[in-house]
Amino acid sequence: MIPFNKQHLTGKEIQYIEEAVHSGKIAGNGSFTEKCHNFFEKKYGFKKCFLTTSCTDALEMTAILMDLKQGDEVIMPSYTFVSTANAFVLRGAKIVFVDSCPNNPNLDYTLLEGLINSKTKAIVVVHYAGLACDMDAIMSIADKHKLFVVEDAAQAVDSYYKGKPLGGIGHFGTFSFHETKNVSCGEGGMLVVNDEKFCSRAEIIWEKGTNRTAFFRGEIDEYGWVDIGSSFLPSEITAAFLLAQLESLDKIQDVRKRIWTNYYDEFENMEEDLDVRLPFTTNYATNNAQMFYLICSSKEKRLGLISALKKERIASAFHYLPLHKSPFYQKKHDGRNLPNCENFSNCLIRLPLYFSLSIDDQLKIIEVVKSYVK
Ligand SMILES: *Cc1c(COP(=O)(O)O)cnc(C)c1O
Repeated sequence: MIPFNKQHLTGKEIQYIEEAVHSGKIAGNGSFTEKCHNFFEKKYGFKKCFLTTSCTDALEMTAILMDLKQGDEVIMPSYTFVSTANAFVLRGAKIVFVDSCPNNPNLDYTLLEGLINSKTKAIVVVHYAGLACDMDAIMSIADKHKLFVVEDAAQAVDSYYKGKPLGGIGHFGTFSFHETKNVSCGEGGMLVVNDEKFCSRAEIIWEKGTNRTAFFRGEIDEYGWVDIGSSFLPSEITAAFLLAQLESLDKIQDVRKRIWTNYYDEFENMEEDLDVRLPFTTNYATNNAQMFYLICSSKEKRLGLISALKKERIASAFHYLPLHKSPFYQKKHDGRNLPNCENFSNCLIRLPLYFSLSIDDQLKIIEVVKSYVK
């Protein structure tokens, strides 16, 4: 069986975990956590990083930092993972879903102004497949209406918009290190705070509403409960695993991009003969090879392709049932149709893409896809 995803191990994970264990300190916010923060702050120039136990947690931290209240409105794409919305619903916000672009799943910024009103507090963008949303346009709309911008950069590690690293453009950026992402520690994430004025409060929210971090820096004599917060920080065991992955990031990216490009080149050659569309690319955004997807011409065609692959023992995946039509949110949605979102939900298929995918296996996948969609 060719699986859809396989956890890559760099070989250093166990060694670093052993070091963490032998250090005698495996709770959070220790030396491995600091090394992970330093990695991102140095490589991408992010102002302040906070490792979290998931991207979900990082999103929840942004909702607290923005002081969202009951009835505040947050605009985001419907074509995204549940957590993007859930984090804000937990604080009582109303989610206003915006449609995707016709040619790619990122939100269509031309629809934003029509959805903004006096209750709107934030726009959450999702850089789908690691491909940047049009951030210049989005940031200028947000500036004009004094809104926060959160980048759900769960899929966007090491990806850029006009030379700027994703996650570092909005007020906040959130990353995921779930096992399906490019670098992983099983379950993990990170909040990036780009606006200086939120840094000290983020530290408190991160540490269960206490000023414990300032205490450890020796800035205060005792620490206590100063704000709301939660246990958002991962243990040093998680951070140790992640550091091993981060040290290998360039190599991981090279391999994933090679695999992505193999797919793209193979299908591009025959796009006219194939009944599928290739992933959207643009010159203002880089590709970080988070996933390789194809857009089938109908839901039936996608189902057929999934079965054809399965018959050859190849796993594939589709995802994101529109959140505005979900059992939880359907009745709360304002009834607008979001046709592009639904089209991606019905027609998008993701092919296997992982570090150890062999060229033979990849050629087999390509052959099966080609013979089905011809
Ligand atoms: C993976 C993902 C998440 C959730 O990440 P976790 O680390 O599992 O919480 C959120 N948003 C998007 C767009 C994702 O792809």
